[in-house]
Amino acid sequence: MGADVLVVGAGPTGLMLANQLARRGVRPLIIDRHAGPSRETRALGVQARTMEIYAKLGVVDRALELGKPGSGADLWAQGRRMARVPLGEAGRDLTPYPYILILGQDDNERIMGDRLHELGVSVQWNTELIGLDQEPDKVAATLKQPDGTTRKVLVAWVGGCDGARSAVRELSGITFPGAPYQHVFFVADVEATGSMVPDEVNAYLWREGFHLFFPMRGKDHWRVVGILPAELRGRDDVTFDSVVPSVRNEAGAGLTFKSCTWFSTYRIHHRSASRFRDRRCFLLGDAAHIHSPVGAQGMNTGLQDAYNLAWKLALVVKGQANEALLDSYEDERIPVARRLLNTIDRAFMLAVSDSWLAGLLRTKVLARIAAFAMSREPIQRFAFRVISQIGIRYRKSFLSQSLDELPDGAPRAGDRFPWLQLKFRADGPVEDSFQKIGDMQFNLIVIGQPAEAAPDVGELLSVHVIPADPMNDAELARVQIPRPSFYLLRPDGHVGLCGSRFDAAAIKQYFAERLHLGPRSAH
Ligand SMILES: Cc1cc2nc3c(=O)[nH]c(=O)nc-3n(C[C@H](O)[C@H](O)[C@H](O)COP(=O)(O)OP(=O)(O)OC[C@H]3O[C@@H](n4cnc5c(N)ncnc54)[C@H](O)[C@@H]3O)c2cc1C
Repeated sequence: MGADVLVVGAGPTGLMLANQLARRGVRPLIIDRHAGPSRETRALGVQARTMEIYAKLGVVDRALELGKPGSGADLWAQGRRMARVPLGEAGRDLTPYPYILILGQDDNERIMGDRLHELGVSVQWNTELIGLDQEPDKVAATLKQPDGTTRKVLVAWVGGCDGARSAVRELSGITFPGAPYQHVFFVADVEATGSMVPDEVNAYLWREGFHLFFPMRGKDHWRVVGILPAELRGRDDVTFDSVVPSVRNEAGAGLTFKSCTWFSTYRIHHRSASRFRDRRCFLLGDAAHIHSPVGAQGMNTGLQDAYNLAWKLALVVKGQANEALLDSYEDERIPVARRLLNTIDRAFMLAVSDSWLAGLLRTKVLARIAAFAMSREPIQRFAFRVISQIGIRYRKSFLSQSLDELPDGAPRAGDRFPWLQLKFRADGPVEDSFQKIGDMQFNLIVIGQPAEAAPDVGELLSVHVIPADPMNDAELARVQIPRPSFYLLRPDGHVGLCGSRFDAAAIKQYFAERLHLGPRSAH
């Protein structure tokens, strides 16, 4: 066998999958048909949930060094600032990263590529997947090599991280329903001064569309994204100068452009694969779903697909779980992609619709509703959870089990376990739970009771009994975790099993039933 896992594509999703497998002791074969890393920035916004995963991967400091935190988002309509989403305040105490980090896709790929290299894995560039032949226990993949010859490799699993035109998807016969947006978009990197609030994302709504200004590193540097005015559509000689009048018209006369270092136009689609898996082949990232760039969700969703699949695949490859565990990947991630398409992409349709009614809605109704809603703290926090992706949960997954009804507001099975500051020892310091609780194994958190006869599943489980302490009590009350209670966290930090009374037998049964622990399945 060539490798246990073939990762097709070294964009952000493939690099994340390869990194997560490598640090879990599974050496992937990662290939990309391009000659080297992409130079295009494309995605720009790194969400809080991705930063949490970057912290586990050991690259968060590098990301912070290269990126620029956007601490708020401002909504403008007809020259007036209508609303502000204070990301910093809204996300405070929900995550160590209460902002959107503005960091180009190329930098994200470089950071993950360097980390992968440190883990001893190199991308095989100029290598294209051109054939897939699935057998019951393996996959024969045909690769076109840099010298133009082909070779066959035998692998146990394939991660299709090969983008919107995915060969893995097409060779697996999986359909990709959806449609292109009717509009043409433009993107420009500029040096500009104007009404924009520094260090924040500024969204300008206007009757015929919108413009977004993302703060970039360097004084007065912005990335501008918008839709091409109707009169410029269909022309192939559009330059940044041709869109300046419309941008200035809406963003105000005070807007001055000093330079433009990059300008491009593009069309986008909204699509979701009908399945995310065909037997031994999985689809992740843009191969599985594509969205509008508004909301900065696409790249982040792909990175989290990879984080969701990697721990499961690693357990199966290492013989620590049965293949049935892998069914949960599709069960958990398809709803996330579909929900994105039904919410943020729907809102996007309204934001770009050409009709006069939509124009009126955008500049009058939408702006006013946003202004009203965003002045309310619970709505701000709700919006932060959605956009930052920390609110993603898998309550309906077969990996999620609650033993009894916990009080309203308490974390449930399937939720991302909250970020806490706790004393893990009665005489110890207050520690950051995200730093303390590792992601290479399951974690059992036991509150207000002893963890008697916790099951012995070796390195698969760490047990943390949280001591009674006034500071701990206050912190647990803040996130409405009752005493007594216990939470079994999966390696990706989502709650697998929870209940009030500690139940060692139920935990043992969870491992037996959900991971199907037993003899290594043949492949
Ligand atoms: C202008 C623009 C702005 C965007 N802004 C944002 C944003 O702010 N935030 C956000 O989250 N998302 C954004 N997105 C979306 C984001 O760029 C994508 O979601 C992201 O690139 C997906 O990553 P991926 O690794 O899944 O796919 P890709 O980045 O497309 O990578 C796929 C890789 O697979 C390789 N490949 C393809 N076929 C084969 C084959 N047969 N064999 C071997 N290799 C192959 C390709 O060479 C490529 O390197 C934006 C997109 C665009 C176009």
